[in-house]
Amino acid sequence: MLYPEHEEQYGALFTSDDPTGFKRRKVIDDAYLHRIQRKHFLLFDVLPLFGTLLAIGLLPLYPIGAAEVGVAVALWILTGFGISVGYHRLFAHATFKTHPWVAAALAIFGAMAGQGALISWVAMHRRHHEFSDREGDMHSPNLSGSGFKGKLRGFVHAHFTWMMAHPYPNVVHYAPDLLRNHTLMFISRHYYAWILLGFALPAALCGIVTLSWSGVLTGFLWGGFVRMFVLEHGIWSLNSICHLTGTRRFKTRDQSRNNAWLAPFTFGEAWHHNHHAFLYSASFGLSWYRIDPGYWLIRLLATLGLASEIKVPDPGQVQARLATSGG
Ligand SMILES: [Zn+2]
Ligand SMILES: [Zn+2]
Repeated sequence: MLYPEHEEQYGALFTSDDPTGFKRRKVIDDAYLHRIQRKHFLLFDVLPLFGTLLAIGLLPLYPIGAAEVGVAVALWILTGFGISVGYHRLFAHATFKTHPWVAAALAIFGAMAGQGALISWVAMHRRHHEFSDREGDMHSPNLSGSGFKGKLRGFVHAHFTWMMAHPYPNVVHYAPDLLRNHTLMFISRHYYAWILLGFALPAALCGIVTLSWSGVLTGFLWGGFVRMFVLEHGIWSLNSICHLTGTRRFKTRDQSRNNAWLAPFTFGEAWHHNHHAFLYSASFGLSWYRIDPGYWLIRLLATLGLASEIKVPDPGQVQARLATSGG
């Protein structure tokens, strides 16, 4: 329950009306949650850096071969699609419909990326769109002061330090659709098991292929830590780089930017400004010639009869938006 003066102070930023007339908190800020967030930050945002350094440092002793490269690349692609196509385009924005088994697989691969349980990720992401680059946006790089110093502080905050401790969005408010889906909630609740699987699988595969314990170690390091490290910096760049620098085409109320060079490494997510302009669109590139592997996967799923109701603006809608944006 909120005190009236609290509500007056923060207004729509922190509370919302629900149908029963009660004021509902939109975010929860508490020490227990912050402790969990700090642990998660150290385990899955800081540790992969040291795991990657260890993997590189051990190269003279434990050189890698096709098995390690294979599992690292394969899991990078699978977990990347899990985040881009699953967590983001399917669950956060409902840009297409798919078979429940495909949805479950995408949710599991997304969890293996170590970027948060599905329900939390979706709730935080929807809040990002609600308050993009304004107070309430948990990872805007544009709220840390002006000048070079302010931008640098903003970049570091948006890229990863925001994850150390932050307000937790109320999932009842932000993701009621997911709360009703038992399969997805089961996957979301067992988040840490999927992360472990993301380490156990490459370790086991490399151990079997090389028939050695050193294969288990290199599979664990390269298919686990290095893969996680590379993917997360790509995805974090969307919050940092793609809200700081790049090109804009449409009038949006945020500072989102497109970065063509980053698109191949982020499964097409780096058309981030296009995404902010057309939130409902499954395509972030908006044209066939812009590299958007996430959208290509959705089209492939549709060809296989596994995806339908794919939402994309037609060229006329894009042109109309450009015209009103002065582009
Ligand atoms: Zn989004
Ligand atoms: Zn954004």
